[in-house]
Amino acid sequence: MNYTCCTHCVLDVSDSFITFDDKGVCNYCNEYRKKEKEFIREKESKVYDSFISRIKKSRKQSEYDCIIGISGGLDSSWLLYLAKQSGLNPLAVHYDCGWNTENAVNNIEKLVNQLKVDLYTYVVNWEEFRDVQLAYLKAGVVDLEIPTDHSFMASLYKTAAKFKVKYILTGHNFVTEGIMPRSWVYNKGDAVNLMDIHRRFGKIKRLESFPVINLINKFYYYNVKRIENVHLLNYADYVKSTASKILAEQFDWKQHPVKHGESIWTRFYQCYILPARFGIDKRRAHLSTLICSGQITREEALNELLMPVYDPHLFHSDKEFVQKKFGITDHEMDQYMLLSNAKHEDYKTDLIIKQAYNAIRNTFSLTKDLKISHRY
Ligand SMILES: [Zn+2]
Repeated sequence: MNYTCCTHCVLDVSDSFITFDDKGVCNYCNEYRKKEKEFIREKESKVYDSFISRIKKSRKQSEYDCIIGISGGLDSSWLLYLAKQSGLNPLAVHYDCGWNTENAVNNIEKLVNQLKVDLYTYVVNWEEFRDVQLAYLKAGVVDLEIPTDHSFMASLYKTAAKFKVKYILTGHNFVTEGIMPRSWVYNKGDAVNLMDIHRRFGKIKRLESFPVINLINKFYYYNVKRIENVHLLNYADYVKSTASKILAEQFDWKQHPVKHGESIWTRFYQCYILPARFGIDKRRAHLSTLICSGQITREEALNELLMPVYDPHLFHSDKEFVQKKFGITDHEMDQYMLLSNAKHEDYKTDLIIKQAYNAIRNTFSLTKDLKISHRY
């Protein structure tokens, strides 16, 4: 296929699902425009305020009115700041899976101390977490962030249930993360896929404490516990440059050099594994979202893409750190990089269970409110 890049954003044919219209604009830009209209309508109808008052009303059931997952990155830091500004009483939950940068830890400390927010740190069993991460590396699949993203969400639901809190707020948002090429990621909520990959490639026979949220857990959290996951940033004005300026001025908060760079693993995955093994430069997705949300120009994005994806010194120190932490040699890491690629769908998935559940629900006319899947 000839090289083609979208005329509006900077996504290109490194995603196999990309298509272009007669003006050369990609399907992701067009989908973004449609979705954006929905969010604008919701903003105009003051959905933000109605969420805030609903969340506040739930406070009588618990000391806290919401759980906020915080990583030390911009999105979740800004969310915590906004929540406090709006009069919420959140419990900040940090999911510690061993890959935090010092900067991330410092940012979290500065924010929670100055905002007077209680912090609950959920520390994962490192041996189990390592085993799942290495299983993904060996499986040949593209989305090596699933062990982190899946267990992070599972930990938030567990914590919400533990503290009897009905609302979970996460930093996920449309204006800085709304575009993600479909061939670069897989459904983060598919516990069947995660467990099958671990069963085939992991060394630990049974995961005792690795946080997993399967369809039964989801049914329980959504329909019995009535816990709701709200992407609050979608209903507020969120401009990245303004947010980082305010956080830097008020809290001495420091920006990470790359998006999601609060984790050394994520930085290594995005800046080395994805480009070198899969030919993917994830900056294209992040920059394209910022173009579509009007926060940067296409020229600025193209100039940023001319910069090296990884600073060579940082790459060497990160590689050494990752290998040492995993307990693998240079040779082993190089071998993993040469394995043939596989699709997530090459392993078991939860699709059949979801289809069966929907068929039963429709046959017995069960309420449509009963859900087992959720937008992550
Ligand atoms: Zn585009």
